[in-house]
Amino acid sequence: MNVTRATFDEVMVPNYNPAGMVPVRGEGSRVWDQDGAEYIDFAGGIAVNVLGHCHPELVSALQEQGSKLWHLSNVFTNEPALRLAKKLTDATFADKAYFANSGAEANEAALKLARRFALEKFNEDKNQIIAFNKGFHGRTFFTVTVGGQTAYSDGFGPKPGAVDHCDYNDLAAFEKLISDNTCAVMMEPLQGEGGIISPEADFVKGVRALCDKHNALLIFDEVQSGVGRTGHLYAYMGLGVTPDILTTAKSLGGGFPIGAMLTTTEIAEHLKPGTHGSTYGGNPLACAVAERALDIVNTPEVLNGVETKEALFREILGQINEKYQVFSEIRGKGMLLGCALNSDYEGRARDFLVAAANENLMCLVAGTNVIRFAPSLIIPDADIKEGLARFERAVAAVASAQ
Ligand SMILES: *Cc1c(COP(=O)(O)O)cnc(C)c1O
Repeated sequence: MNVTRATFDEVMVPNYNPAGMVPVRGEGSRVWDQDGAEYIDFAGGIAVNVLGHCHPELVSALQEQGSKLWHLSNVFTNEPALRLAKKLTDATFADKAYFANSGAEANEAALKLARRFALEKFNEDKNQIIAFNKGFHGRTFFTVTVGGQTAYSDGFGPKPGAVDHCDYNDLAAFEKLISDNTCAVMMEPLQGEGGIISPEADFVKGVRALCDKHNALLIFDEVQSGVGRTGHLYAYMGLGVTPDILTTAKSLGGGFPIGAMLTTTEIAEHLKPGTHGSTYGGNPLACAVAERALDIVNTPEVLNGVETKEALFREILGQINEKYQVFSEIRGKGMLLGCALNSDYEGRARDFLVAAANENLMCLVAGTNVIRFAPSLIIPDADIKEGLARFERAVAAVASAQ
């Protein structure tokens, strides 16, 4: 059967507007489309393909598990899930893991757990959830309500209640909002979708201290920042602030759908048998791939390499900006970087994305004013240089049309 981008408009629900070309194959940080055209991938499937496309170790993990056991449901446990849980809890503050299939589901579990914990340990008035403007936590109705962009949550009828927001990096506003009725605070320790915004050290420490003061759980949504993205296995490790619950997905499966919620024994106890669940969560195929991805990412070679690659990106992006004067700031950490456009190009991130695509470079935007890069953590330096040469041509094209 012959399918093309036109088929999308024919048979797919129109909630996405994908690029004109249809990719058919990937290897490392390169991708090829139906016509055989080659692209460099700085998008990484939106911070997912942590080891690039078709990493041989991930392919073999999938193939080995694929000929052993695919699915059981949670009526039975399975070896890959148990090993992955052991490795994740060994590597982090957490004692317990819950597996889901996506970031939104991991967050949904975290929010439900926080509400249960407060209800059982304190009282039913302790139900307020605080989150931050521009934050993103997924697209289920609870997570989209907790997320800080009403554009994503409006228009679907009544929302889950007792959810409040304030500005990220505004500790004074946060202090006004939190009280003994706060059950949890959900935040990204580096805002991704909202524009690649790092937390200030005093802010994140202050949030932790106020959560402690008011017995509120601190939930770090590390769906985008986790699994080596910032050069630490999890971003919290670089901030010196430990959450009570951490959610992880995207890079966790290296391209195979999986999410996880990690927490302590004391908190985990409140999700007793029957309180929450998932048919696929902890699926052996997903867990086998994630286990292998974690084994590879959680090594000094890969984690230290992230810092070196970030420096290379920043150096070349700085040179591009000297020539063309388009960015006000290059921000983010590790392999999660954002080029914020200056006032001359305000709101035109998409124009740069389109120009980059014309130069056979895949990148992302974060909001309307930031061009985002989230490539593989092991993208070869040669691909970074070639990709940024293409990006420079894209920048030149947008600047000359100005
Ligand atoms: C992508 C993302 C999510 C949602 O993950 P899905 O797998 O799309 O459900 C949640 N939180 C953050 C911070 C994300 O970047």
